[in-house]
Amino acid sequence: MRAYPDELLVSLVARYHHLHGHSGIKPSRRKIYGLDHKKTSVDLPTTIRPILSIIHVSADEVLQGNTIFPFYRPFLSEKQIESISKQMLEGRGGSVHQTSGVMASVVKVSELLRLCPSCLKEDSRKYGEPYWHREHQLPGNLLCHIHQCELLTQCLICNEPVSANNAKDLSICPLFCSQGHDLSAQVANNKDETLLKISKGIVALFKASLEGEIPSDLRYLYINRLAQMNFCTVGGRIKQREVCSQFLSLFSPDILKKLGVPKPVGPNNWLSTMLRKPRHSFHPLLHALVIEFLWCGIERMSPWTDKAPFGNGPWPCLNKIADHYKKGTIKKVMVTRCTDTNNPVGSFKCELCGFNYSRRGPDLAVEDTFSYGRVKDFGHYWKAKADSLLQKGGSIRSIARALDVDSRTVNLYVKKKQEQQDEASLHRSKERDIRRKRLLHNIHDFQSYECFRKANAKDYSWLYRHDREWLLSSLPSFHKQPQRKLRVNWKQRDKEITQEINQALIKLRMGQNKPLRITLSKIGRSIGKLALLEQHLNKLPITKGLLKINLETEEQHQIRKIDWAVSNIKRQGQRPVKWRILREAGIRVVKTENVEHYLISKIQEAFYNFQDTISA
Ligand SMILES: [Zn+2]
Ligand SMILES: [Zn+2]
Ligand SMILES: [Zn+2]
Repeated sequence: MRAYPDELLVSLVARYHHLHGHSGIKPSRRKIYGLDHKKTSVDLPTTIRPILSIIHVSADEVLQGNTIFPFYRPFLSEKQIESISKQMLEGRGGSVHQTSGVMASVVKVSELLRLCPSCLKEDSRKYGEPYWHREHQLPGNLLCHIHQCELLTQCLICNEPVSANNAKDLSICPLFCSQGHDLSAQVANNKDETLLKISKGIVALFKASLEGEIPSDLRYLYINRLAQMNFCTVGGRIKQREVCSQFLSLFSPDILKKLGVPKPVGPNNWLSTMLRKPRHSFHPLLHALVIEFLWCGIERMSPWTDKAPFGNGPWPCLNKIADHYKKGTIKKVMVTRCTDTNNPVGSFKCELCGFNYSRRGPDLAVEDTFSYGRVKDFGHYWKAKADSLLQKGGSIRSIARALDVDSRTVNLYVKKKQEQQDEASLHRSKERDIRRKRLLHNIHDFQSYECFRKANAKDYSWLYRHDREWLLSSLPSFHKQPQRKLRVNWKQRDKEITQEINQALIKLRMGQNKPLRITLSKIGRSIGKLALLEQHLNKLPITKGLLKINLETEEQHQIRKIDWAVSNIKRQGQRPVKWRILREAGIRVVKTENVEHYLISKIQEAFYNFQDTISA
């Protein structure tokens, strides 16, 4: 299974559950987690480790890509980060919030999932099915920042919640409520400017968190800004009461209630405490509000408020071998502070070629714009060129010249690459040894070569592909039965077999059951001549040609299964959505992009027809 862009983990689990058609959520939970009772929390899910083998990604990728953990991360201590990620991977509880205690917060988080009706439509068109977006579930985010409409937690017509995530149920992202109301038609455009700003602020904060761009010295920035805004006394004390009342005039109690954030009133309210001690863990939603309050947007948040230390951009790409060298391709600078000198350090990354450099600022002259202190990453374009030069060969010095860097850089690059390759080949030789050993160990149990090969098919074919010389030289020759020599009229035989195969093909293709893949062995077995086909195909040219046309690749087979599944589902009067088709077809993993495209086009076609029949 693959995750869609920005797909929430709970969405993946729900799709897995529906795809496999377990009745009730319990068997799925047992299958995935090995646990009977397990609720998959929306933002900080636990017991992630067993899921990794289903979606084939690393633990870090899931934490970073499919949970809301990165949103919290910049506001946690190293120790907290370690403890929470460990709990998310290995812990058995429903949610980290309850067990870790570190995120104890004044913010009320809703467990209801949110969806955007317009994204629903777009995703169905693009991927063949909608899914739960992570961005929509960010705490306090009530709008889709792409479509600027309200996110739904329930059907606007019948008030049925769009999601259920409890002990009995796990919702896949729906297109329709159970009453048949089309959710994708329920677009409510937002008219509240403040909500929109907050939503944008939350998404921007989240993006900055993902990129690791949240400044580590928030307290310093907050205090500085408060002083600039005349919220500090001459003695440096924060005028807390004024701050709170200004804050409340920007964010009305009504809005705060919608967000699940309490009003900051009275002594020791969250806002005062946060400005006093922002080092403590506060909910990122609160930070988003404070940043909006102080700067009107995270992009304006900079300690050098009167003048940007690197100017306003765009900034040039300094990749000497790119055709856009020195052209202003970089729109964004990430500013941090040098811990030694307290000077601003800017990081610049070119979107076109991936070249990423940094420089200590502030810039004092125009020439500064074209200098860098350090290349952080040469980027994909440079690396591709380096690889092709290295493959062609030549002296390191000449390659360095062509890449416009010094030899040391090339040497370093080669060394790093070599290390990666070594690791891969070490892995392979370990696998090879295991397979060799197993094969040799099993060899004595068999009388014939055929039986031996069949019983050890996986190892045999792996070694045949990767270690053929060893395989052929190490296997003892089995005693072969002497063959009776017979004169055979191959031409005649070829014709007869062709007819038999044609009959078999008709049977295989016409059946009402789920299409089986048409393979040589299936045809061979069904006409009772498998060995003949396997051993003497070269003497049967017509048969060979016929087989070549009719044998199915996995791709062709999946496509045929999809056709079959769609017509089945239609016949049953059900909606042809993606998971249902895949489940009906018995497809666990879509083999190629062609199949994916075919499936999506099929769904669109079916979907429109379905709507026709409804309205007709
Ligand atoms: Zn949307
Ligand atoms: Zn409804
Ligand atoms: Zn570039």
